[in-house]
Amino acid sequence: MIRLILAALGALALAVVGFVGYRTFSFTAPPPLAAVEIADASAYGIDTSGAAQRLGEAIRFRTVSLVSEAEDRAPFEQFHVWLQQRYPAFHAAAQREVVGELSLLYTWQGSDPAQPPIILLAHQDVVPVPEDTRQNWTVDPFGGVVREDAVWGRGAIDDKGSLVALMEAAEYLARQGRRPVRTIIFAFGHDEELGGDGGAVLMARLLADRGVRAWFVLDEGLAALDRHPLTGGPAAMIGISERGSGTLRVRAVGQPGHSSMPPSETAVSLVAEAVDRIHAMPIERKLEGGPALGMMRALAPELSFTNRMAVANEWLFGPLLRQRMAGDPAAQALLGTTIAPTMIDGGVRPNVLPGEATAMINFRVHPRDDAAGLLRRARQAVSDLDGVTIDWAEPPREASEISSATSSSYALLAGLSRESLPDAPVAPGLVLAGTDSRHYAAVAENVYRYQPILLSAEDLEMPHGLNERLSIANLDRMIRFYVGLMEAGAMQ
Ligand SMILES: [Zn+2]
Repeated sequence: MIRLILAALGALALAVVGFVGYRTFSFTAPPPLAAVEIADASAYGIDTSGAAQRLGEAIRFRTVSLVSEAEDRAPFEQFHVWLQQRYPAFHAAAQREVVGELSLLYTWQGSDPAQPPIILLAHQDVVPVPEDTRQNWTVDPFGGVVREDAVWGRGAIDDKGSLVALMEAAEYLARQGRRPVRTIIFAFGHDEELGGDGGAVLMARLLADRGVRAWFVLDEGLAALDRHPLTGGPAAMIGISERGSGTLRVRAVGQPGHSSMPPSETAVSLVAEAVDRIHAMPIERKLEGGPALGMMRALAPELSFTNRMAVANEWLFGPLLRQRMAGDPAAQALLGTTIAPTMIDGGVRPNVLPGEATAMINFRVHPRDDAAGLLRRARQAVSDLDGVTIDWAEPPREASEISSATSSSYALLAGLSRESLPDAPVAPGLVLAGTDSRHYAAVAENVYRYQPILLSAEDLEMPHGLNERLSIANLDRMIRFYVGLMEAGAMQ
């Protein structure tokens, strides 16, 4: 009998090993997407050093997002004039509209109205340089300095680099008398860093009113990394979705009075307990239901054997994977919603019971979750705490939909990226911050977020940080990518 059981167990173990092996070996990159005609980008006669000078000029306009009506709009208006002067062939060929007072919408009409247009996004505004960080810059952040093979200044990467590269590419083609077959729309918001309500939202609405349904939208969001954390090698990440966000306000009321004979719970103890419970709320973290699995699959050939085995057999190694990723904030953010208590407030004296205490908990919403469900679960977690109420401090923003990683437009972007960075496998990814592109979901079949530049881990600190700069090699790469995009995507 024992022998029989052992034999059965042995057979079972063999079957498991066989199945794990099968899944590991069949976990490979998806087949290459339909080939796209992409020209040799090195053949374009791009004036890269001129473009670097022009990006420097663009940085000198202090187009810091305007938080109030009283702030000076002149830098934006001067920037608009400068665009017309620097890119005359494009401005002669395209129709220009000012939307929401300072956003720019250009339509470069294609000869075939039956083809759905391409919408290319960039934003004019930049985040400020706080006074107390100014001394840590090695150059004037608004000086537009070109040195050490880079263009320096606030906005060099985020996002004037994109805007100028798009204009350089369009001007290059327009100057040669090239005209698109498929319409190309350029939408340059002026308040992306504030959420896009006065720019991108209005432009998207205008396009929707005109019945525009684009082939795809391309915006900033992700880029190519020289060392992808999973593989240690280069990888080009095309954002196919972005997380949402929202902040819960937790409010606890208690008996005010002196602390010498306190009740069993005070407003402060209640708010602390509520924050702790919500922070510890179980959150689903897994590869499925977001871009993570597609990313792993695309990078499968570069993954180590053990990593590939673990990922391909999440049914078996799921707990192990989750344990390994628990200490890695980037992995946590990729696999599920994140919860961060950020503010707490209550009481004015050490010996006085406050009548109220409050806390703020910031959520970054994974595409698998939604704000209503998170609020419901947070309320459930504290339902037995009398005097505690929970609401969104402001209307939350849902995660975006997930765009296709097998569409013809994804294939075009992936093909262009491989032409520009042959060593970097292309993989879909999740954008952890917000971009203007989310507002365009209703006017496009797919929305992608990718800047065709190669960045190091150190470079990733630059947007919104210190010594922001774009290497001239990256500027050149971006311009050639956009020329190729307009040619292959809209001119044949
Ligand atoms: Zn940006």
